[in-house]
Amino acid sequence: MDRSRSQFSVLGLPVHILDDYAGWLIERLHQGLGTHVVTLNAEMAMQAEQNPALANVIRSAELVIPDGSGVVLYLRMRGKSAQRFPGIELAESLLQQAGKLPNSEPIFFFGGAPGVTAKAAESWQQKVNRLSISAQHGYLSAGEETELCESLKQMQPKIIFVGLGVPRQEFWIAEHRHLCPQSIWVGVGGSFDIWAGTKDRAPAWFCDNHLEWLYRLYQEPWRWRRMLALPQFALKALGDLRA
Ligand code: UDP
Repeated sequence: MDRSRSQFSVLGLPVHILDDYAGWLIERLHQGLGTHVVTLNAEMAMQAEQNPALANVIRSAELVIPDGSGVVLYLRMRGKSAQRFPGIELAESLLQQAGKLPNSEPIFFFGGAPGVTAKAAESWQQKVNRLSISAQHGYLSAGEETELCESLKQMQPKIIFVGLGVPRQEFWIAEHRHLCPQSIWVGVGGSFDIWAGTKDRAPAWFCDNHLEWLYRLYQEPWRWRRMLALPQFALKALGDLRA
């Protein structure tokens, strides 16, 4: 398997294309190379346009994967062959591969509503019983957050999923990754909700036809304002192509 990593630019942000993202991350884990993984979609790219601090965090991440259809269509219009790789699928494949490691490496889930995160962790423990997952919900007081940081420092989990939503999770990781400098840190958005069964992923048909956003809008209509970023991204992308 070719593990080389190509980097492309989407509206000034990096996107890395690889054959095997999870394999690349497991190799980094073996080498003790701390890694921040960002799962880039059009909504995040548009937030980064307005928020230079977010753009900087994305540029500093060691791996930025093409999570959204908009990002992939942008790359294809520029003649790059890119496949969409949703962040949740990367997280799942990382957990599957972690379950095959000779030592059961500690894994941490942080974020999601109280009850949801523990349920997500339980569901993974049942699926892959060699995993050793600790979970903490994402609605903490300042004091509880300090305790969490202390536990992370002590525990040194090898894989840390942070599901606080964009851009909070990206900033949280950038600010706290020094606590576990050899870990793989991934911003996973609402993945805990899906693993806990409190939300559904869009059926394959929607994903295959670049319509996952439509299913999300149907499930969570209050997201409509955030989704205005999608046509904005399309217009920007077309302008960028003509330039
Ligand atoms: N969340 C959290 N703490 C907060 C705000 C949000 O843990 O203070 C969690 C929320 O419970 C949900 C996730 O962050 O599980 C955000 O999911 P969403 O699908 O909105 O993520 P995005 O679309 O921003 O990637």
